[in-house]
Amino acid sequence: MSHVLIIGAGGVSNVVVHKCAQAKDTFSKITLASRTLAKCEAIAAAVKAKYGVEVATSAVDADNVAELTALIERIKPDLVLNVALPYQDLHIMDACLATGVDYLDTANYEPPEEAKFEYKWQWAYHDRFKARGIMALLGSGFDPGVTNVFTAYIKKHLLDEIHELDIIDANAGDHGLPFATNFNPEINIREVTAEAKHWENGAWQITPPLAHKRVFDFPQIGEKNIYMMYHEELESLVKHYPEIKTARFWMTFSDNYLNHLKVLENVGMTSIEPVLFEGKEIIPIQFLKAVLPDPASLGPRTKGKTCIGCVAKGLKDGKEKTVYVYNICDHEACYAEVGSQAISYTTGVPAMIGAMMMLQGKWHQAGVYNMEQFDPDPFLEALAQYGLPWEVKEL
Ligand code: NDP
Repeated sequence: MSHVLIIGAGGVSNVVVHKCAQAKDTFSKITLASRTLAKCEAIAAAVKAKYGVEVATSAVDADNVAELTALIERIKPDLVLNVALPYQDLHIMDACLATGVDYLDTANYEPPEEAKFEYKWQWAYHDRFKARGIMALLGSGFDPGVTNVFTAYIKKHLLDEIHELDIIDANAGDHGLPFATNFNPEINIREVTAEAKHWENGAWQITPPLAHKRVFDFPQIGEKNIYMMYHEELESLVKHYPEIKTARFWMTFSDNYLNHLKVLENVGMTSIEPVLFEGKEIIPIQFLKAVLPDPASLGPRTKGKTCIGCVAKGLKDGKEKTVYVYNICDHEACYAEVGSQAISYTTGVPAMIGAMMMLQGKWHQAGVYNMEQFDPDPFLEALAQYGLPWEVKEL
């Protein structure tokens, strides 16, 4: 019986709130707070209509630590589940420290003025969280999140040593629009246009954005082009599994998506440097976000599947072995269940499960942790139960 405070009322939040309502034995009280109250109220109304569960709502600017601290003190939640944007992470962690409440997020902190994904800022909170006797669980989405747990599962059950890890993310969904991103456009484009970084022989190798391309044959989807890029879970995985010699992250992009992105980049629309427009400073990528479709609006029109998983090569009983652990998720089935497309769904379900693990005490320790630092089994069991079953294949 616990009270969860969910921050942010976007695409992922909609799924988290629906899923917490489905697990009312654990989440007996739900409060949803975000910058725009009307968005919280719309999600609360949908959940009330579907499950008869009441969701309390509140307006909050999570970048204002004093305001958020006052809200936490007033409603006294057991856990703060952050599904706002990466820019808010440190402010929300500060409010959790001030009030002594556990914290969870799905994406690592990123300074607004620099497109840099790194855990160092959040890992630096470890001693303070430990001393306060509270826990922070970082990156409890799909990737990062489930991909970290798949890696922990591979290490626990399938391989004695992991030498090569490829995390491969396919979105084979079609929304029928010329160009749209399937989660927050600003965060998505910052990530895709960044230099690719992968781990090779004990060091990070930097290559130009999307310069490495391969073809991968996905179960139920078929062959797709995949492109190497940097993704934040690589940093924690190579830290926690020093035996990994090579770690890479790959994502599918259609030629159409890449052509649009190239043009937008070439004309300067993806830049995060401010420009002067009619006497006012604007940031091109933020303007671009305003004119692109809201990812939440893609739900009713997206068809097809996602497939995200880990291919790991290593040793089992002294022999070389390659295993593939993955999930397949269907956009239309997600929409029918919770009114969101599969990208929000595959992020929101693991966010709820991470919170469930913490609140049930299955994953609980004071300090700041990544997903692979806990027992993968109870998490994966609950993940399958709440809509994201997974498969294991030997390649
Ligand atoms: P959206 O843009 O749809 O939603 C973000 C929400 O946060 C909005 O409701 C927004 O408010 C709110 N917000 C922004 N700033 C503040 C603030 N200062 N105070 C309070 N609320 C604020 O994003 P998504 O739902 O697509 O993504 C949510 C998070 O999930 C992101 O951090 C993203 O990086 C992460 N993610 C993680 C994935 C994973 O697999 N690990 C995959 C996909 C996403 P408003 O409505 O007023 O703008």
